[in-house]
Amino acid sequence: MQDQTVQTNFSLAQLADPAMAASEKILRTCVHCGFCTATCPTYLLLGDELDSPRGRIYLIKDMLEGGKPASPEVVRHVDRCLSCLSCMTTCPSGVHYMHLVDHARAHIEKTYPRPAGDRLLRAVLAMVLPYPARFRLALRAAKLGQPFKGLVARLPQVGNRLAAMLDLAPAAMPAPNRTNRPGTFPPQGGRAAKRVALLRGCAQSVLRPDFNEAAIRLLNRHGVEVVHAQEGCCGALTHHMGKEHSSHAHAKQAIDAWDAEIARGLDAILVTASGCGTTIKDYGFMFRDDPAYAEKAARVSALAKDVTEFAATLPLMAPVVESDLVVAYHSACSMQHGQGIRTEPKALLTRAGFTVKEVPEGHICCGSAGTYNILQPEIAEKLRARKVGNIERIRPDVIATGNIGCATQIGKGTAIPIVHTVELLDWATGGPKPAALEAVRPRLAAAE
Ligand code: SF4
Ligand code: SF4
Repeated sequence: MQDQTVQTNFSLAQLADPAMAASEKILRTCVHCGFCTATCPTYLLLGDELDSPRGRIYLIKDMLEGGKPASPEVVRHVDRCLSCLSCMTTCPSGVHYMHLVDHARAHIEKTYPRPAGDRLLRAVLAMVLPYPARFRLALRAAKLGQPFKGLVARLPQVGNRLAAMLDLAPAAMPAPNRTNRPGTFPPQGGRAAKRVALLRGCAQSVLRPDFNEAAIRLLNRHGVEVVHAQEGCCGALTHHMGKEHSSHAHAKQAIDAWDAEIARGLDAILVTASGCGTTIKDYGFMFRDDPAYAEKAARVSALAKDVTEFAATLPLMAPVVESDLVVAYHSACSMQHGQGIRTEPKALLTRAGFTVKEVPEGHICCGSAGTYNILQPEIAEKLRARKVGNIERIRPDVIATGNIGCATQIGKGTAIPIVHTVELLDWATGGPKPAALEAVRPRLAAAE
């Protein structure tokens, strides 16, 4: 097997750079078998080897090894990658594609002069999305702009992407609630068996604050004290755009905030958005060579858990709502491929009394992927249509997922209500019915 691996020719000087050394190691694990192509969404849609993991690996190798600035060809194919990490699940050789493509994106950001419109759009996204107050304002503006979507779409260079942005603005925006602020939420009964920090999140806290509200109620009901620390965005959004400076600044703020809580005693750092969870679990790698942050970052990553991973360790109450609702569980790519969490959410929902159905082609991305549905709207739209078709085929009453990006992306393509897994667990164990389920009231009435 060894002699079939990708041969690399990095100079010693290049390998003195730790990021390059890490990528070279990854490149050498690839045996170019091509198994990953079968589960890569962009290869499935576009049929071009350069839009497959193996093709991208070769493009990235050539770019890094040659010490070259990124070329338009490399940028085109790397930009089309969703970072869904389906290829990592499929790869028999353990190629860490995530770290490789992260390095490639950072290299592109440093060396490729994008066209002005593209650069501006990316700068605006990086300046708006991670900041809830700015994001809320932007959504209001997008709502006003929706009637002009046709005109906007005709603008040169970025028209289709601006139109996609307008499309994603929700019809109604929930009011900010307690989950948007730092604070402590004590357990019911007063005595805390466990103490956890819960990521407030940026975009999610604006679009669906009910997700964290349900998580807090569920945890408090089961004897867990929940803390919202002083962190902001976890850095995932700008990390996937290759904007290392911005993503590291966000991540450091989060690490410092959680480190202070770790000193006060913390059993876990919980995340209700699996896209964020994947990045937080990777902080240890991101800061491995930073003397001031390496240790702290590794501590934070070791404590990071998806909320369903943690809930699976709790003796959850027996359901108090008898429900015959059929739930299509949509496993986000960051959940199944990024974090390897596959069974816990479905087992929890089943234990809570729901009938859980697998979504056909469940390993294929819905097209959300952070800012991908804005930056690559045509591919994202095709993936959404494919995902929605697969979900509707199993005729569920409700869709459950663990990632805000997927909830927004899929929710734009179907009338079936979509909720977070913890909203159903909260409801089943004594919390309020999720607001999104009002639409299925007749069935629920029958179930209750
Ligand atoms: S499956 Fe793994 S080893 Fe095979 S080509 Fe893809 S990345 Fe390389
Ligand atoms: S991350 Fe997803 S889109 Fe990118 S190469 Fe891997 S499978 Fe394909």
